[in-house]
Amino acid sequence: MSYFSWFVEHDQKHHHIIQKLKEQGLSQNEIIHYFIFENMVEKEPDFCLLYTNKQKCHNLKYLNCYMCACPYFRFNDEGIEEKEGVLVKSLCSINSKKASRFMYEGVEHLDCSKCSVPHTKAFIQKHFDEAWHKIMKDCVTFPKV
Ligand code: SF4
Repeated sequence: MSYFSWFVEHDQKHHHIIQKLKEQGLSQNEIIHYFIFENMVEKEPDFCLLYTNKQKCHNLKYLNCYMCACPYFRFNDEGIEEKEGVLVKSLCSINSKKASRFMYEGVEHLDCSKCSVPHTKAFIQKHFDEAWHKIMKDCVTFPKV
C-alpha cells in the first residue's frame, strides 16, 4: 500500500469513529481516552493491522492511537528527496533524535518505532482536532526530485 492510500484510508476510519463517539455525546477528553490502545483493540479491531495480534507499535505502558501517524511525519510516494543516489520517501520534519531510517526495495523510509511523541496524552491534547487530516495536513509533501 502506498503512503497516500494509507493516509486517505486511515483518515476515513478515524472520521467514522469520531462521528460515532460524537453521536454518543463523548467530550474531547473522553474521545482521547477512547483511543487508548487496550480499548481500541477491543472496540475497533479494524483500525490498525497490529490489533489482530494485540501488538503495540511502541513499547509504552500508556499508548494512545488517536494521532497515529504523527504530524511531523513527511512523505511522498514519488520521493521527497534523493540522498547519495538513494530515493527518500519519508522523513521526520523535526529531525527527532529518536528517528531512524530503513531501506526497503532500494528506497529509504523513516522508522519512528523508537519515538513516542504522538502517542502521549499531552501531545494529543495540545494538537487535538476532531478532523485527523487537519492535524496531519503537512504530512503530504510535494516531490523535490
Ligand atoms: S520520529 Fe517521532 S516526531 Fe518524528 S515523525 Fe516519527 S513519531 Fe513523529
